[in-house]
Amino acid sequence: MLRPQPSPVWRPFTQHLLDPVAKRIARTEGAYLIDEDGRAIFDAISSWWVITHGHRHPAIMDAIRVACERFDQIIFAEYTHEPAEELAKGLIRLAPPGLAHVFFSDSGSTSVEVALKMALGFFYNRGAPRSRIVVMEHSYHGDTVGTMSTGARGVFNAAYGPLLFNVDTIPFPEPGREQDTLDAFEQFCRGGQIAALLVEPLVLGAGGMRMYPPHLLTELKRIAEQHQTLLIADEVMTGWGRTGTLFACEQAGITPDILCTSKGMTGGAVPLAATLCSTEIFDAHLSHDRSRMFFHSSSYTANPIACAAALANLGVWQDEPVATRIGALARMHRERLAQFRSDPRFVNVRQAGTIAAFDLDVAASGYLSEVGPRLRAFFRQRDLLIRPLGNVIYLMPPYCVTADDLDRVYAAIDEAASTIVRVRP
Ligand SMILES: *Cc1c(COP(=O)(O)O)cnc(C)c1O
Repeated sequence: MLRPQPSPVWRPFTQHLLDPVAKRIARTEGAYLIDEDGRAIFDAISSWWVITHGHRHPAIMDAIRVACERFDQIIFAEYTHEPAEELAKGLIRLAPPGLAHVFFSDSGSTSVEVALKMALGFFYNRGAPRSRIVVMEHSYHGDTVGTMSTGARGVFNAAYGPLLFNVDTIPFPEPGREQDTLDAFEQFCRGGQIAALLVEPLVLGAGGMRMYPPHLLTELKRIAEQHQTLLIADEVMTGWGRTGTLFACEQAGITPDILCTSKGMTGGAVPLAATLCSTEIFDAHLSHDRSRMFFHSSSYTANPIACAAALANLGVWQDEPVATRIGALARMHRERLAQFRSDPRFVNVRQAGTIAAFDLDVAASGYLSEVGPRLRAFFRQRDLLIRPLGNVIYLMPPYCVTADDLDRVYAAIDEAASTIVRVRP
């Protein structure tokens, strides 16, 4: 077998025998990755959805530099520190009202694992255990075994199927079939065993940038409440302005019982995650009995440097016109998407705030659709970082993006649809 490349690095979501050798990036700046030859690559997907304001926002970089003068890692049992305390207060201030406690971890997946454990611990400690989790069709919640169990089954996790636990799945609310989703949820709840509904609010990211309207989330929350089922909002992707509001839940006017956040929490600079929960969930773990504490920790829980970066990000949201930038980006998408809406090469043209998505009308869809790698190569040649999910093209740029950047991206997509794709006749 031909060995692909002289690197010991095993890269994520990469078929090393087929995919091109990874390009080395020398530095990052604003909406761009600069490679070793000095070429500027436009980061149209915010480096896997983490970068919010732009790469290397000065205030966040400064905060990291300053934190390094005082801290490295500190054990977070027995000790605490100012960046974590201030950050927790800041998160509670910004999150939907009613969330009162913050548990820190280090990735989106761990924030969801923590949420699942909080939900089961809540019922267990109250002496009325519940162990079923309801999820939405096409959802994605991470790549650990627990979060894979709650995500859509498919080629991504076929090999690990025997290890995954069973969940109850409600259909994705396709336009006109929303009631089916609500009915299915109600039906599962009636069994009395549902601990929580775990859901990505408004946009299902890795499942193909599928979008549903806020009122549906409002209804799901109402049904959950009727049956004392918890609602866990996985805002790992949707948080920090992506859907137009700081958190997507705001648009549904709901407060989830548990909220997971990560990706944009540090502006995307360094890894950090948080799981926020209600007083009831925290209190269910309060006891004079040590066997009822919350049994979870990561080595790097609440790393002070990462917390300082997140705190600086909160400062950016407070001091800079972030909401205005997000509004401008949403408008720029809307103007450019308009022409795609009447173009038969594109279907399901959709937008949620700063996220624009559409499907190429090709015969073979799905994540492993042949068209994906060809599109990626096409965009790579034009110094654009775009990674279609099969035949789904989406754009999720950082908020510092300019109209010229977007014009170049939309023009390239238009060209790709004509030259690369054999569109269905
Ligand atoms: C990316 C993502 C995760 C997993 O986050 P990691 O930091 O990659 O572990 C979980 N949920 C959603 C909705 C995501 O988009």
